[in-house]
Amino acid sequence: MSVVTPVCAPLPVLGRDVTVPLASGGETTYAALDYAASAPALQRVWDDVAAYVPYYGSVHRGAGYLSRLSTDLFEKARATVAAFLDCRADDQVVFTRSTTDSLNLLAAALPADCRVFVFETEHHAALLPWNSARVTVLDAPRGPGEAVATLERALADRDDPHGPALVCVTGASNVTGELWPVTELAAAAHAHGARIVLDAAQLAPHHPVSVRDLDVDWVAFSGHKLYAPFGSGVLAGRADWLREAEPYLAGGGASRGVVRRADGGVEVRWQEGAARHEAGSPNVIGAYAIASACTALTEAGFEALVARERYLIEKVRAGLGDLPEVRFLSLFGDDAPRVGVLSLVVDGWPSADLATALSAEYGIGVRAGLFCAHPLVRTLLDGADATCESAEGPSALRVSFGAGTPDEHVDRFVAAVRQLVSRATSPGR
Ligand code: PMP
Repeated sequence: MSVVTPVCAPLPVLGRDVTVPLASGGETTYAALDYAASAPALQRVWDDVAAYVPYYGSVHRGAGYLSRLSTDLFEKARATVAAFLDCRADDQVVFTRSTTDSLNLLAAALPADCRVFVFETEHHAALLPWNSARVTVLDAPRGPGEAVATLERALADRDDPHGPALVCVTGASNVTGELWPVTELAAAAHAHGARIVLDAAQLAPHHPVSVRDLDVDWVAFSGHKLYAPFGSGVLAGRADWLREAEPYLAGGGASRGVVRRADGGVEVRWQEGAARHEAGSPNVIGAYAIASACTALTEAGFEALVARERYLIEKVRAGLGDLPEVRFLSLFGDDAPRVGVLSLVVDGWPSADLATALSAEYGIGVRAGLFCAHPLVRTLLDGADATCESAEGPSALRVSFGAGTPDEHVDRFVAAVRQLVSRATSPGR
């Protein structure tokens, strides 16, 4: 596999100068290669937030200048996110805390008799929020075509073909980085009278997401994976089910009018727009940061970002591909299109020990485990030999990167894994 020239420099992010202690007694700069868990803040996002904080005020709650300014910025952030996702004109953007929060909000807003279809390969945030009595969990497909066929079969076979149904699917796996055939899955869902929500937690930071082109009904993502680590997430899409649902949280902001009833209770008239599900004082800084990140990524251009990421992926694969001890995990095949997320197992090294050694000896931050996608990782590890087992059971090592990753971090990772592998296989380790 040839390594191509990068088309753009990494975007400036915070934390590039952080030094960390090494087991040897020295120190080194930290190589953050766990973007799939949380990505570093873009410098641009930090600068925008720092410039705004002196003007911070309550949203939708004050007549003062700073409250009005904050309300204006909050609503502009909503519009920026809608444009970033290429939403339809009547879609709603609700600010949440995270992807987990967004999907739980949608789960709470489903019509009472709604069936849910989800692949076992999903992150737990997409696998678990649904009413277990109404969810059908689909087997891991071994290719995009099989994914579509599996979904079509399940939707066609459902016992209430005219009842409401929702499909929840990831855009890019947090384990393998592989891209899922979202357009085809959305078409299948709609052909069978179902709706679809896209878990874009791993997709949106790496790839353009167009609600219109993909024809999905909702999209969820998290700010902290999109270079905006200030506690906000997004659920964007169809307004109808959200409008008809009980508010996700009860409280101020979600309520339009409240009166004390003669019998001692209270009567409430709830809001109808996004505010219906944004009770309490909203996280304006989080929303502002997400909007800033959306603008920064759009300006940098996804074409260049995708090309650079592909170059880094190829660096890892070319750098480790010749080692018989290393096996990359993949559902759709090694050459399937993916974002900058790769999981692997290394013969002779339990993944947890490998992650610890990478941190202690090389200052590299990666993750070992099952990545909140236990069924998927277990499926992928089938056949992995016993030397891949840690005390907690079989697990994998995940390396993930993105717009701020310099070549040196990936080169350091490759060199470190090669050294550790040779140590494991050399006599007298
Ligand atoms: N979906 C996917 C694909 C993820 O990777 C993650 C986070 N690892 C989530 C959902 C949940 O995101 P959050 O923890 O920000 O709620």
